[in-house]
Amino acid sequence: MEIKAKFKKLYWNTSLLFCRFLGRKYQAKCGHKTKLIAEVKIFGEKTIFWLNKKNIKYCQQCLVDMSIKCSWCGKSITVRDPVTLCTPMKKDFQMPEWAVIYKKVPLQLVGCLRWECAESGVDRAGFWIAPGKVHRVLSPLEMLIAYSSENPIICNNLENIKNAISYPSENQ
Ligand SMILES: [Zn+2]
Ligand SMILES: [Zn+2]
Repeated sequence: MEIKAKFKKLYWNTSLLFCRFLGRKYQAKCGHKTKLIAEVKIFGEKTIFWLNKKNIKYCQQCLVDMSIKCSWCGKSITVRDPVTLCTPMKKDFQMPEWAVIYKKVPLQLVGCLRWECAESGVDRAGFWIAPGKVHRVLSPLEMLIAYSSENPIICNNLENIKNAISYPSENQ
């Protein structure tokens, strides 16, 4: 595992290096030119964006601009990240200025799925998508209620939007 992780890191770094110096620029649909792989900084956090060559909708900078801060911990949430939509329970809750409101009544704030922030994957209620909004999907708990059957519900990858069931209203 250790070696695998190291190899992965090496692979990323090499790809990044190649792309930085040799990589060609592609025309993104947002109107900007962009490289396929780039290291960007989102609220001071370094991250690597790898774009899909076949369909470049947004350049790295546009994706950075679409990022938000988690309403709870303040760490970054970028496009395609899974999100929670929790309601503050504390009476003296002070909403941080960067908080992103999903719904006003009852108040639901967009939060991240980091270990320290979400109770468990059960809180996963949507994804942050371009151009900067929540795509609502069924949370594992809602799936359980909606599809109650004898078969267990398998949530093998909560972080992948492709494995999620969208809310009917999101498919219009
Ligand atoms: Zn752009
Ligand atoms: Zn958070």
